[in-house]
Order: sequence, then structure tokens, then C-alpha cells
Amino acid sequence: MIDSTKHQGMRRHLVEQLRKKGITDEEVLSAIGSVPRHLFMDSGFESHAYQDKAFPIAAEQTISQPYTVAFQSQLLQVEQGQSVLEIGTGSGYQTAVLTLLGADVYSIERQHQLYRYSMRQLPKLGYRPKKLVFGDGYKGLPEFAPFDRILVTAGATEVPKALLNQLAIGGRMVIPVGAGTQEMILMVRISAKEFEKQKHGTFRFVPMLTDKN
Ligand code: SAH
Repeated sequence: MIDSTKHQGMRRHLVEQLRKKGITDEEVLSAIGSVPRHLFMDSGFESHAYQDKAFPIAAEQTISQPYTVAFQSQLLQVEQGQSVLEIGTGSGYQTAVLTLLGADVYSIERQHQLYRYSMRQLPKLGYRPKKLVFGDGYKGLPEFAPFDRILVTAGATEVPKALLNQLAIGGRMVIPVGAGTQEMILMVRISAKEFEKQKHGTFRFVPMLTDKN
């Protein structure tokens, strides 16, 4: 599969849809306009790749809906050169968007098949995350902490303490929390001990799983 002018046209249309749905961050919109989403999906879904929908990927997981990727990225407010920890690499699509926002991206995935896929696919398409890790995102990556931004792309039952501890002071974490449907939570670290918590609407993600389930 290649990235043709037809795909580029469909991406421009997708970006216009996201604008209409309320996404205003131009850097986020430009990243979505640039990443060939169809190259992160099964070839069977190629013609659907620029619909604003989630689709199945390997290991019974999903590639997030473009609106969700844009919404989470906008809420995260990534600045050039910041270190960003992503939990749930999945297809690697959101990882690619984060690298285009200028972040040093560390991303963890617990499904080996998806980890292998993104290890191959991201560099092949020219995206260079700092580190892709096969493991349990509930633990974070203490050896690379603190992170300026933390983005969780699976539904957690609570905000994991280990991740809060790895957030830099002044840093932002975006995490969907809840069983079934999730509330989009933004945690801002005010000081070593204080966090501000904001709620930003309801979404639906695949569950964030631990080693035990
Ligand atoms: N950003 C991805 C979203 C994939 S869905 C994309 O758009 O393609 C969420 C991903 O989180 C799944 O791939 C799932 O395997 C992964 N995941 C779930 N629990 C996890 C955990 N504890 N640690 C790391 N990854 C996890």
C-alpha cells in the first residue's frame, strides 16, 4: 500500500470534519492531515481509514477514532522537545501523531503482536519514537521519568499511582477512566503532592489490562 493523492484528499476531508466537531489546535490538525492512517490498518480497511471511526486491529484491539486521537492530543498540549509517555501503542498511529508534535515519545504496549507491528511500521514510515516498550503500562517507565506529558489510550479503572508519580511538576496526564464507558480525565501536577483533576466528557476505549487479566 502507498500514500496516494486520493488518500491525501480523504485526509483533508477528515481534518475538516474534526474542525466541525470542535478540534481547534492547528498543530494537531496538521499532524492528522499528515499521518497516513490507512498504513496503520489492515489492508481490508483501507477504503474506510479516513472515516472518523475506530477499527479493529490485531490482538482484538482497536485503532482509536481520529476524533479521539485529536481530542486527547489537544488536551495534552504537547510542546516541542517534551518527553511524552504513551500507554497503549496499539497500531502506532497516535504515536506517529505525537512524534509530529515534536515530542520525544516513549510508548508501551502489552500485546506482543502489536509491539512487533509498530516496531516495524513506525520507522518504515519515517516516524522515530525514542522508545517502544513491550510491557505493562500500569508500571510506567520509572527509568525514563519524569515525563512532561502522559497519555493513556486504553480505559483504566482508576488513575494509576505509578503514572502520577512519573509526571513532571507542571505536567499533564490525559487518561480515560471507567468501566464500560470512560470519562476523559486531565490530571495537572501542581506540585510534588498536589494534582488538579478535570473531566472532559465521555468516551469508549478498549480496557487497560494488567498482567493478571
Ligand atoms: N493508540 C492506539 C490505541 C490502541 S487501543 C491506536 O490508536 O492504535 C489501546 C491499546 O492499549 C491496545 O493496543 C492494548 O493492547 C493496549 N493496552 C491495554 N492495557 C495496557 C497496559 N496495561 N499496558 C500497555 N498497553 C496496554
